[in-house]
Amino acid sequence: MTKSEQLFEEARKVIPGGVNSPVRAYGSVGMAPRFISKAEGAYITDVDGNEYIDFIGSWGPMILGSAHKEVYKNVLDACQYGLSFGAATEIEVKMAKLICELVPSIEMIRMVNSGTEAVMSAIRVARGFTGKNKIIKFEGCYHGHSDAMLVKAGSGVMTAGIPDSAGVPSGCAEDTLSAVYNDFNSVEELFHQWGNEIAAVIIEPVAANMGVVLPEKDFLNKLRKICDDNQSLLILDEVITGFRLGIDGAQGYFGIKPDITTFGKIIGGGMPVGAYGGRREIMELVSPSGGVYQAGTLSGNPVAMAAGYTQLMILKNNPDFYTSLNQTSKQLFEGMKQIIEEYHVPATLNYLGSLGCIFFTQNQVKDYTSAKTSDTKAFGKYFKYMINHGIYIAPSQFEAMFVSGAMGEKEINQTLVVMKKYFEGL
Ligand SMILES: *Cc1c(COP(=O)(O)O)cnc(C)c1O
Repeated sequence: MTKSEQLFEEARKVIPGGVNSPVRAYGSVGMAPRFISKAEGAYITDVDGNEYIDFIGSWGPMILGSAHKEVYKNVLDACQYGLSFGAATEIEVKMAKLICELVPSIEMIRMVNSGTEAVMSAIRVARGFTGKNKIIKFEGCYHGHSDAMLVKAGSGVMTAGIPDSAGVPSGCAEDTLSAVYNDFNSVEELFHQWGNEIAAVIIEPVAANMGVVLPEKDFLNKLRKICDDNQSLLILDEVITGFRLGIDGAQGYFGIKPDITTFGKIIGGGMPVGAYGGRREIMELVSPSGGVYQAGTLSGNPVAMAAGYTQLMILKNNPDFYTSLNQTSKQLFEGMKQIIEEYHVPATLNYLGSLGCIFFTQNQVKDYTSAKTSDTKAFGKYFKYMINHGIYIAPSQFEAMFVSGAMGEKEINQTLVVMKKYFEGL
């Protein structure tokens, strides 16, 4: 038995499913999870001493690679002054100013502790601002685990949201309407049906929680327009795409201006941080300046801010970073495409910048239904081979591969060699 397997056995006795977040349990690939002991640069090491090239990067935050020297130094420095004060600090002001400067749609921003919290709060302020209750979300998009976001895919426009988790009262889900990604008609129908009751449309501008699904041309622009026409707000959930597709996120990449944006992952540099921000007149409604209540004991924590601020400053001060990251990513993803072609693998590859996903289906993947045509058994076999040959990818068909700035030719070539061997052997 490996040490990971032993730890998993112990963990399952005292932690539900043995893990503190479901995807870590490797449930969909039927293996015991690898317990991690450390990560540095492009590499991650498990408790049995196996080293892997890390394509998860803590699910996005580690865009510079792990244990970046400067981030690490500033975190240690911050620790010496105290781990938490529960009071206002200078670094919070610097962080807020930096994000407002980097992302033009954001005039004010509030720090929280996770992406879930950011989305939950963004929805509350959207409802407070518009005085309306209904929210449109897209099937297959993930916005954290708050009650209102855990709804089943809609089975037609007449259906109110149905909880997708035990413990969510139907009342919490009934104001969440579900539309189909890349299908503008489905959004129009919901607006038609619910008229003036829609507070906001929330979307991942590049969906990265059903694998990676790109928005079709003009889809986001059409959402912007229909929101404007109906006095509804557009919320871009940039918890993954923020500071990944570029310094100004997916909104900069696609040239679209949301009313509210949510962040997480990268802005914490590996520490638990989330944030939501947007137009001044909306954000001024948040307590204590306005009547929409939202608070957090550890929000804006000085150590977390030191990590996030340092990471964002490094990204800001190195304008070539994204060019180079996207170049490295292109090598990987185009290389994967070639392998798929060469060996006639029944698979499709979607990518944008440093986010990508191989779907084990021959269908073009443009929404949740097409993503779900993937052969998850085939993915499971592929995953097992990859992890056993030093390539650390997400243990699920429906997650992204994250390329980091710590990767270079060596890591990409090594990864492609392993993939090639796998598909060659099939
Ligand atoms: C990860 C994620 C969340 C939730 O963030 P947590 O920090 O896990 O709560 C929300 N939205 C998107 C798009 C995410 O990828």
